[in-house]
Amino acid sequence: MKKHIILLTFLSFCFGKVRVVTSTTDLADIVKTIGGDQVTVTSIARGNQDPHYVEVLPSYMFKVRKADLYFMVGMELDLWAQQIIDGSRNRKIKVIDCSVDINKMEVPTGQVDASMGDIHKFGNPHYWLDPENGKLIAQLIADKLANAAPKSSDLFQQNLDAFNMQIDRAILDWDKRFRKLQGKKLIYYHNSWPYFSDRFGLVAVEFLEPKPGITPSPSKLNQIIQLIETDTIQVVASESYFSERAPKFIASKTGVKTIKLAQSVGALNGADSYINLFETNLKILSEAFGIEYD
Ligand SMILES: [Zn+2]
Repeated sequence: MKKHIILLTFLSFCFGKVRVVTSTTDLADIVKTIGGDQVTVTSIARGNQDPHYVEVLPSYMFKVRKADLYFMVGMELDLWAQQIIDGSRNRKIKVIDCSVDINKMEVPTGQVDASMGDIHKFGNPHYWLDPENGKLIAQLIADKLANAAPKSSDLFQQNLDAFNMQIDRAILDWDKRFRKLQGKKLIYYHNSWPYFSDRFGLVAVEFLEPKPGITPSPSKLNQIIQLIETDTIQVVASESYFSERAPKFIASKTGVKTIKLAQSVGALNGADSYINLFETNLKILSEAFGIEYD
């Protein structure tokens, strides 16, 4: 085992950089921030793709074959990642589940059953949408990169400190600039947003999906239309990858505002980094609610 680690360290030293693959663009962006020029990183899922459903392709296995580390979201969001890793036949790769240190939301207390749908069975896996969780992810990434490349551990620590400071400042700044979003009620397409909503004081009233991963039915849409009218909901927000059909149908009946939010880095213009993911979404939401911000 020890020999193994020494060999791995030696190999990554030989090639200079730690080769990292991540399931999502959010994890890739944090790896890039912490690893700097000592890592190469590539994400399997694109930012504008539904992270629950990624087709397992041989080209992905090929990418993983040469990697040192694989960071996954976990909580069964990226079950597909295991197939890619197994298919890569890379026996030396270290697979890291980034959800280990997260304070998980919506974890079922009783028995897991079909009423929770198929894809959020073990709690809500969209935890990267709280910037405080971004710090926990970054800490884990810094630790694992340091194990893989001990010579660069000072650099990783410096980058981690800078990242944490940037997030702390941004949270203070967002709390001030976007405070008028607090208490605003909205309807989301998919339940990607409990961590985000909690952080920024938004209230999720309903979801277009009857259960996570289930396409909205006509009866569900009618129910939503009534809810919007009785509860005066102003905004329906969708993840970038959904068809606009259902939201537009609801808008045509109620006049509600429909928007797309970036669920991951790269999902929308402007959301080109982990920090900008939040900045972009908060601006889109403020504009939808007719709120001014500086
Ligand atoms: Zn989900």
